[in-house]
Amino acid sequence: MEGMVTVENMAEILGNDTFMLDLSGSWPTAHVENRMNNQSDHREFIHCTDLDGRICFVNSAWKEFAMENNWALGGTKALGSNLNAVITDPQTRHLYSLLMERVRESGRVARFGYRCDSPDCRRLMEMRMQYQDAFKQFEFRSRVLHMEWREPIALLDSRQATRSSDTLLVCSWCKSALADQTWVEVEQAVTKLRLFAADSLPCISHGICPNCSERMSRFARQARDPA
Ligand SMILES: [Zn+2]
Repeated sequence: MEGMVTVENMAEILGNDTFMLDLSGSWPTAHVENRMNNQSDHREFIHCTDLDGRICFVNSAWKEFAMENNWALGGTKALGSNLNAVITDPQTRHLYSLLMERVRESGRVARFGYRCDSPDCRRLMEMRMQYQDAFKQFEFRSRVLHMEWREPIALLDSRQATRSSDTLLVCSWCKSALADQTWVEVEQAVTKLRLFAADSLPCISHGICPNCSERMSRFARQARDPA
């Protein structure tokens, strides 16, 4: 457990010079203790968008990461693509545009934690969002704060072809899933909904859980009025 990044000490690690989103509660200790392995990733992933949200720059680490995670925007498709088009949930899209507006108005850096998981890995990431007035563009820098391997979750594998007509709602920010009207970690949702035994898996639809909705809205307000 020594030196481990948890949501509890995230604020301490990130410092208080920038406003940040508190992700407390989305990183259950049980999972940390059950981790299969610990590894770090020191790459910094950078992408920039113009004022309309179109990607105008990605660094090589970003491209690598997109390939590794089978992102639809990987390869040569990233440049010129609109970020808004890949954020399918309207509320998340709204919060993102609100944040970008605040960052542009205030000239400050928004720094927040979020989860970016893949089927076999849980990742706590940090995002730094900044507006570059000289270039009229937004710069997004993200890095892995903490990662841990897990047994691959077929449910999260976009290459998993057999899907039922059911949908499972997953929060875009903390990656918790809505199972029987409760937001839980994806692993717990799989157990709760008996998805190990299911012949076909539900489709994943992205949304925002009430906790993240509250936090992100508060964060966007904070970004405007740093009290
Ligand atoms: Zn959430």
